[in-house]
Amino acid sequence: MKLVAESEGRTPEFILRGIASGKIVIPVSPYRYTRPVGIGKGLRTKVNASIGTSSDIVDVEMEVSKARVAEASGADTLMELSTGGDFREIRKRVIEATTLSVGSVPLYQAFIEAIRKYGAGVNMPEDDLFRVTEEQARLGTNFMAIHTGINSICVERLKGQGGRFGGICSRGGAFMIGWMLHNEKENPLYKDFDYLLEILKEHEVTLSLGNGLRAGAIHDSTDRAQIQELIINAELADRAQAAGVQTIVEGPGHIPIDEIEANVKVMKRMTCERPFYMLGPLVTDIAPGHDHLVAAVGASLSSAYGADFICYVTPAEHLALPNAEDVRKGVITARIAAHIGDTIKNHDRDRDLAMARARRDMLWERQFQLALDPETARHVRAERAPSDGRVCTMCGDFCALKIIKENIDMAR
Ligand code: SF4
Repeated sequence: MKLVAESEGRTPEFILRGIASGKIVIPVSPYRYTRPVGIGKGLRTKVNASIGTSSDIVDVEMEVSKARVAEASGADTLMELSTGGDFREIRKRVIEATTLSVGSVPLYQAFIEAIRKYGAGVNMPEDDLFRVTEEQARLGTNFMAIHTGINSICVERLKGQGGRFGGICSRGGAFMIGWMLHNEKENPLYKDFDYLLEILKEHEVTLSLGNGLRAGAIHDSTDRAQIQELIINAELADRAQAAGVQTIVEGPGHIPIDEIEANVKVMKRMTCERPFYMLGPLVTDIAPGHDHLVAAVGASLSSAYGADFICYVTPAEHLALPNAEDVRKGVITARIAAHIGDTIKNHDRDRDLAMARARRDMLWERQFQLALDPETARHVRAERAPSDGRVCTMCGDFCALKIIKENIDMAR
């Protein structure tokens, strides 16, 4: 709490009160050292980078490199979401390669192991969900996205509203709904939520209440199924808090801009201001190849309205498994969005003020130090360097800043 307070410019008492009231979490693990990061009310908006293999591309070295690139680019947390290869080995290697808090989705492993062992995810024994949760906790996982909120009422809402234009985009949501319908049973993670809490409490894992019914298209946003799951998750968040388990609540994926404010405020109100983890949101569906930018627009607004934690989106979203360069672009773009949100939510504008002065005074080294992506800024300037080191090649001899400096002192 002291380290988080220091990095946020807050008092340890502020952090302590936030944790006690469930408005702030610090995902920890008794099994490994983690650089502590606070997520929640009154703190800087945090950025998560998700990595992991797929059934098509299993390259452990690439995942380790993606973890390192994410940390070096400024991600606050990392989610290891492998769905291909040897899960244990990949997660162990990634965890060893980073000091960031690491998150996971145990349900993926439970379902994929069931497919490998029993031929289909619907054959998964219920207990596997809990066994895998414990196993991943012991590896040093700090937080887990768990799809507790999809229960039979949500499935009925989904059917009752006549389906969806964009289907279900959450892998966890799709696996769980398939299992529930095939077996005609309630979601075990919902039914045995108290047992799940016992495991999380014992291993000090932070619970991220998953959003399996988030919309995967702006035409499905804020529909009955999504809101039903949110209501269930809000109730479960109270039970987790009472059991002493730190809790985050996840929010939706694709939302048009004019619904972002309502989504954030309704969620914050319903959950007594628990930390809100926003997956983007993506604000249009027609820009594949540029979805990191689409998500940044949504993330800056959601952060401004009160989201505490945003998941990055890479340029490969909806197209392919991200590579290390996609991860770098995704993290930097999400950090820009998070900061834009913080200039509103926390009125965090000191760095912008310092940059304004450095630009006015043509202090280029200072500008690079203040930049969210110094490497790119340095590279662009050096590639097209000016003959007069005070200016840049955009206006050259006719640099407005140089001309005004020669005529009047604008210092402020
Ligand atoms: S040359 Fe133009 S763009 Fe470059 S620093 Fe001067 S005013 Fe700004």
